[in-house]
Amino acid sequence: MARDKERACRNCHLITRKNICPQCKTHTLSDKFDGICIILDPENSELAKKMNITVAGKYALRVR
Ligand SMILES: [Zn+2]
Repeated sequence: MARDKERACRNCHLITRKNICPQCKTHTLSDKFDGICIILDPENSELAKKMNITVAGKYALRVR
């Protein structure tokens, strides 16, 4: 499956196909990121707490 041009926000690590982060409303997006995690239930996810994620979605583990 070909991956569309996905980019990760340097600020909140959210992965998006838009030119702007829908969460931070900033353009601090990078196409260089490692690892993808999908947070379905941020309130009950240790990883989400560690990464300060409060909104469900697809996130990059590391943004370069
Ligand atoms: Zn963001």
